[in-house]
Amino acid sequence: MREYWGYEEFRPLQERAMLAGISGRDSLVVLPTGGGKSLCYQVPALCLEGMAVVISPLISLMKDQVDALRACGVSAAFINSSLSPDEKRDVAADIREQRLKLLYVAPERLSLQGLLDLLGNVQLSFFAIDEAHCVSMWGHDFRPHYRQLNILKQQFPEVAVHGYTATATEPVRDDVVRQLGLHDAEVLVGSFDRPNLTYRVERRDNLMGQIAGVIERHKDESGIIYCITRKEVDTICGALSGAGYSALPYHAGMQDEARKENQEAFIEDRCQIIVATVAFGMGIDKPDVRYVIHAGLPKSLENYQQESGRAGRDGLEAECCLFYSGSDFKTWEFIVNKSEGSPEFKAAQMSSLRMVMDYCDAVACRHRMLISHFGQELEADCGEACDICLGEFDEVDDPLVTAQKILSSVYRQDQRFGADYTAKVLKGSKDQRIVENGHDQLSTHGLLKEQSRQTILGWIGQLIQQGFLAKVGEYGTLQITETGWQLLKGEGIPRLLKASSTPSTESSRSASSKAKAHDPHSMEGVDHDLYEVLRKLRTEKATDLGLAPYMVFGDATLRDMARSRPTSEEGFLHVHGIGQKKCEDYAEEFTSLIMEHCREHEIETNVDLPPAEQLRRMALAAKSDRPKGPTASAMASFALFEAGKSLEEVAEEMGRATSTVSGYFAEYLKQRQITDPIRWVDASLIAKIEAAIAEVGPDRLRPIREHLGESVDYETIRIVATCWQNRHDSDEPPVSPSPLGGEGQPSSGAPKAG
Ligand code: ADP
Ligand code: ZN
Repeated sequence: MREYWGYEEFRPLQERAMLAGISGRDSLVVLPTGGGKSLCYQVPALCLEGMAVVISPLISLMKDQVDALRACGVSAAFINSSLSPDEKRDVAADIREQRLKLLYVAPERLSLQGLLDLLGNVQLSFFAIDEAHCVSMWGHDFRPHYRQLNILKQQFPEVAVHGYTATATEPVRDDVVRQLGLHDAEVLVGSFDRPNLTYRVERRDNLMGQIAGVIERHKDESGIIYCITRKEVDTICGALSGAGYSALPYHAGMQDEARKENQEAFIEDRCQIIVATVAFGMGIDKPDVRYVIHAGLPKSLENYQQESGRAGRDGLEAECCLFYSGSDFKTWEFIVNKSEGSPEFKAAQMSSLRMVMDYCDAVACRHRMLISHFGQELEADCGEACDICLGEFDEVDDPLVTAQKILSSVYRQDQRFGADYTAKVLKGSKDQRIVENGHDQLSTHGLLKEQSRQTILGWIGQLIQQGFLAKVGEYGTLQITETGWQLLKGEGIPRLLKASSTPSTESSRSASSKAKAHDPHSMEGVDHDLYEVLRKLRTEKATDLGLAPYMVFGDATLRDMARSRPTSEEGFLHVHGIGQKKCEDYAEEFTSLIMEHCREHEIETNVDLPPAEQLRRMALAAKSDRPKGPTASAMASFALFEAGKSLEEVAEEMGRATSTVSGYFAEYLKQRQITDPIRWVDASLIAKIEAAIAEVGPDRLRPIREHLGESVDYETIRIVATCWQNRHDSDEPPVSPSPLGGEGQPSSGAPKAG
């Protein structure tokens, strides 16, 4: 995992899942989206002899996975209908020659004798079945071809089979084990909580403002906006584009080609926002989606978990916002009623919807609510990853009195009306229907007239969610429950929340200041400008290579890079998410850029890590048998410096910026332990600069330059300062190895002028 992916730590259950893979024991691994399931089989595939066969239902995902694996230096391939006959022949040859560690195939391929014969003749490490719930009719995504996967155990009884899914229910789990014929399977079920996601729910009142609030918190980052209908997709997408945001639509009514194009633009970061119906998302595993907005009620909490779960797969902070209104419920009801399906099925769908409403009206930790829906418990409230725990709502001062006002109105209306109607009465509306019913004469009419109708609706929802009111029948008539009656008598305390009294854009802004703690850019030690520069280089590299940017480096990697700012290949290898292959492919360009940027902005490079981390990394470096030291370009420049060429000449010859070459030059001075700058700098100037160094120290160039009255350029100061340090280092043996790994270098002494 470290060598190929550059990851240092397992996510929960990954280690056990990998051990099952390596030991050859059948297994079923249930982890939420973003839990890191792919690595659970990719790592064992590398540890074992032979080739692992991965069965995956989505053609687009296969290609992405294989591209990402190759970018990490893993030999992988896929076979599906998108390949030309020639390409298929090449893959077949690779299989026959046992050149692959992982082969991705679609399930229907395995009913073709040709492939089975091919597999029968080579060494297989195991079968990994991705989206394993597709085997089960009880799952939400049954696929007939998956049923035939029992053939694997029949044809290859000696080869282990592992299933991976994010669908947790017990009947599905048992069914998968049975259908696949797993023996004594290790079943691992992870927590479905996603601690890096911040959940927020707001009633919809000014949708575009609410959406813009979220987008503004995530400038230049990727996000998905889910809508219930195609029409909404077009409206919202149009409005966002009109306002200058980079947004594209995605829904089933579009041409395949156009949809595919928009999806690719999103994956490749050419477009930041996708506005979509739930048709979007199955075929992508973009890890750096920073927010998912639901512009309307999701169909069920299962759907919500899955759709919102597309945020923050890389484990970094991400935000999930749900904007809803009671009318969404009616929209869904209409869709459900129109759909084909048995009455039981429709009833089940409506009950799922009611649970979503409960989630929205909850006044308790949203993480806890969601998890409990999946039969799991959270040890403690999330603390700071949901609007409730973040305190983004105000508690109502007199919740009992307010609740009593609402309940008594329900009572006075003979418990024959729904939430909308009740809210109107309390607001003091003179609607025809209310007047006709004589309800404008009730003592509760206008009792909450200072409140907005949305707020009153919110409270009614909260009272339902807490069991003081119940919604019954086709029209959702409100009825007072037993605990509701007690409340009317003054027994019990409800919890009523109200969005901060400011209008919604304001509340998003205040939310955003609280969300700061979750803002990846405000992470301590990350140099923001450098991060942006590195992002640009990442996009350039990705475009050149025809890869998605995240396949070059994930956001976590870029952040770590912009924090530790390595200038050597060795330091680069220690950045989170950089394995050997990526180090070889990218170290040179990225470290040059880092060097250049940090020099220009006078930022410290090779930032010291906490001592414990330093020790750990040193131990790691000692184990690794990789060559250490400067990048290839830097090395090439050394010979030119040795030949006495000037910075400008070397820059010209190598086609690099002078500032980059100046960085190489400093490395050269360090590497050769040159202590006397006389070869490059005039003696009187050396004396002047050294006097300044004696005053302000050698570590930072700017104070030296200021001390000299800005009369000397940085390049010259750097030469003198580096030599000064080399001299100083040789007086005192270095305490820790230099980042260049120069510890073993014999000191060659200074080549004197001439
Ligand atoms: P899943 O299939 O469970 O939704 P993925 O396998 O796609 O999740 O992993 C999501 C992201 O997390 C990927 O970018 C992956 O490289 C990254 N990842 C997985 N395991 C780790 C780990 N141990 N440390 C850091 N990143 C990881
Ligand atoms: Zn919470």
